[in-house]
Amino acid sequence: METRLLKRVIHYIWECFRVQDEMKVRLRDVRGNELQVEESAAESRVTIRYFAKQPSDELVKQMEVVCFIMHYGQWVPIELYEGGITKIYGTADAETGRIDIGDKPGQVLAAGFCDAWALQLLEQGFLAMAAKLVPLGLKPTRRPKWPQPSVPTPDLEQIEAWLWDDGGCEATDGCWTEPDGVCPHGHPSWFLRLGLV
Ligand SMILES: [Zn+2]
Repeated sequence: METRLLKRVIHYIWECFRVQDEMKVRLRDVRGNELQVEESAAESRVTIRYFAKQPSDELVKQMEVVCFIMHYGQWVPIELYEGGITKIYGTADAETGRIDIGDKPGQVLAAGFCDAWALQLLEQGFLAMAAKLVPLGLKPTRRPKWPQPSVPTPDLEQIEAWLWDDGGCEATDGCWTEPDGVCPHGHPSWFLRLGLV
């Protein structure tokens, strides 16, 4: 089972922040939370880590996932650290592209966790407030003051459908708008709100 929203979010981060062939990107938001993305082409793996800033200033790792990148580009989570526990769901071989999942039900749950986690990251406005750490350390941008959404956050399937459709998406009051638009009532598109454009 692949993770699709997480992959889309990380690809977006790469498009925005990665310099040429850089294999690692660190982003930090205004609250000090940190996201690290690391790719190993030789091992066909991508690792995503998220650290939450504590009141004590400490950064505590909340989540770490290792995804194997299949030949056709799917990302399959094979290791997940979450809630203080690391679980390994299978092994993969970069040379042959073979993946061997030992714990299939667990792996399906892990993939679902990754996509739900990616959605939560967007909902918290991480991307909208994040800036790259080193070398330049640009200042994180604060989110514009938009009205509170008057409709519930769309689910993963809906967001993906809009992403692949490319024609537009709903604003946070339910109006239809351009992917990066604001409706006549001042509500941003969900993509803007979630930091996806
Ligand atoms: Zn509207």
